[in-house]
Order: sequence, then structure tokens, then C-alpha cells
Amino acid sequence: MNAPSPPSPALVQRVAALVADARRILCVTGAGVSAESGLPTYRGVGGIYDGENTGDGMTIEEALSGPVFRRRPEITWRYLLEIERACRGAVPNAAHEVLARWSNCTRPPAEVWVLTQNVDGLHSAAGSQNLIEIHGDLHRLRCTSCPWRARVQNYEQLSALPCCVDCGALLRPEVVLFEEMLPESPTQQLQAQLTLGFDLVFSIGTSSQFPYIVQPVVMAKHQGLPTVEINPHETTISSLVDLRLACSAGATLRAIDQALSEEG
Ligand code: NAD
Ligand code: ZN
Repeated sequence: MNAPSPPSPALVQRVAALVADARRILCVTGAGVSAESGLPTYRGVGGIYDGENTGDGMTIEEALSGPVFRRRPEITWRYLLEIERACRGAVPNAAHEVLARWSNCTRPPAEVWVLTQNVDGLHSAAGSQNLIEIHGDLHRLRCTSCPWRARVQNYEQLSALPCCVDCGALLRPEVVLFEEMLPESPTQQLQAQLTLGFDLVFSIGTSSQFPYIVQPVVMAKHQGLPTVEINPHETTISSLVDLRLACSAGATLRAIDQALSEEG
């Protein structure tokens, strides 16, 4: 695929002006934000996500589902290990860094929240405050039976079917598997923030497949508030947003940030 073209300066200026005027900004992010850190996106990529079925005769969604984890945890763990291996050694890119800088800013934009579907921990590694990891983080492991929990830097030392050092039961990462409920705490946090309201919503590097990822954009639209999408490809929300930058997340956010600092 050709590299996406750079963002148009006029569009960048318009978005920078929206950011400068906003009091509360929500940035909804997905796998595309980590693409420039070398991580594969989920849909339409090669490697482990390519093709209809995994080597186990099931789709990747089935292999990474709650029911298969309960029935055949060795299958789910095999793909969790592959995903973690793909993340290993990755560092935040310009997109994570700009969002982290905005979220730490004490002057306008006053409050920036990041709602991410990514489980790679890169927003947190970049230092983002006000972060809602709605699908969890691969680097947090917990026991399926006792209160044991730990943060692991990588899965290198883990066995194919990792077990708890305290009770011997199966371990799992604190991520949302397909067909599982969203975790309570980030869901409540998201609802509380949506109730407080945002006056600018970004959708960045996500194909927007899940209702709770689309919802903030739809809410803003209904309230007549500005919405911006940064994604080289069209998505389910492209026709809905006010401004669309068909460019990569890192270069675009860097350009917006630059325009903001020149303004301010
Ligand atoms: P997705 O793969 O469905 O969509 C990725 C989107 O990013 C696409 O629309 C693509 O056009 C866009 N994109 C690609 N390169 C980009 C770039 N440089 N800049 C901006 N956009 C770019 O991913 P999703 O919408 O996040 O949903 C996938 C699901 O899989 C989620 O549930 C997520 O938890 C999981 N997942 C997470 C990671 C991660 O943690 N990094 C990686 C893959 C999948
Ligand atoms: Zn245990």
C-alpha cells in the first residue's frame, strides 16, 4: 500500500482551531494509532489475522473468544502469545506522544480524554492521563481463580498455558475476549465522562466496528458538536464526521499540534 498523503494545511488549521476552542476533547483510538509503532492492525492485514480461519479450524474471533478460552484455553493462549509477540519492543509513536502531551496540558485544550480499544499499553507508556482502556491491557495478567495479579513487561517467560504461582489455576490477561462483557470500571468511567459531555470528538485509526466506539461520535453529531476522523481509509463513521483527514495518525496529529503551538 502507498503511504497516505500528508494532511492538507488548510484542514490542519481548521482542526487546530477546533482544538484550541474546545474545553473537553474525546479522542477515540484504535489499532491504526499503533500502526506507526510497527503493530499490525486487526482487519485487512497479513500474518496472524490473514484469511478466514486460523490453523485450528476457527476464525480468529472464535479463537480469541471467551467460550473457546473456557473450553480450549491453549488455543486462545496461542493467539494471545502471537499478539503479544507482535507488540513486543514497540514504543509509542508521534500519535501517542501528541495525545499524551494534550492530556497533560493545563491550558487549552483544557481536558483531553483518550478512549482506546488498543491492548498494547502504548497510550499509557506515552504518559496519557485520562485514559480509558476499554478492552484492557495485555500486560496485566490475573488468575482465573484467586486474587493474584501482576504486570508483565512481555510474555517471553510464560509457558504455553500459564498458571498461577499461588493456586495453580489458569492465568489470563486483563483483556476483553470476543463474546465477553466489557469491564465494569472503564465502562462506568466512559459513561460518566460522556454524561459530563465533550465539545469535540476525534476518531483516530479505528474501523469503528463496536457500538460503544461509534456512540461518542453519534452523540456529538446529534448535539451539533464538531467531529473529526483521522484515518487513511473510509470507515463506518466517515460519512458522519464533519472533518475527515485521510492521513496517518502520527503525521496528522503532529501537524495539528504544530499548528496549535504556532497559534498559541
Ligand atoms: P481495525 O484493525 O479494525 O482498524 C484499524 C483502522 O486503522 C483501519 O480503519 C485502518 O484504515 C486504520 N489505519 C491503518 N493505519 C493507520 C494509520 N497509520 N493512521 C491512522 N489510521 C490507520 O482496528 P480497531 O478499529 O482498533 O478494532 C480492532 C480490534 O482488535 C479492537 O478490538 C482492538 O482491541 C483489537 N486490536 C488491538 C491492537 C492493539 O492493541 N494495537 C491491534 C490490533 C487489534
Ligand atoms: Zn491463583
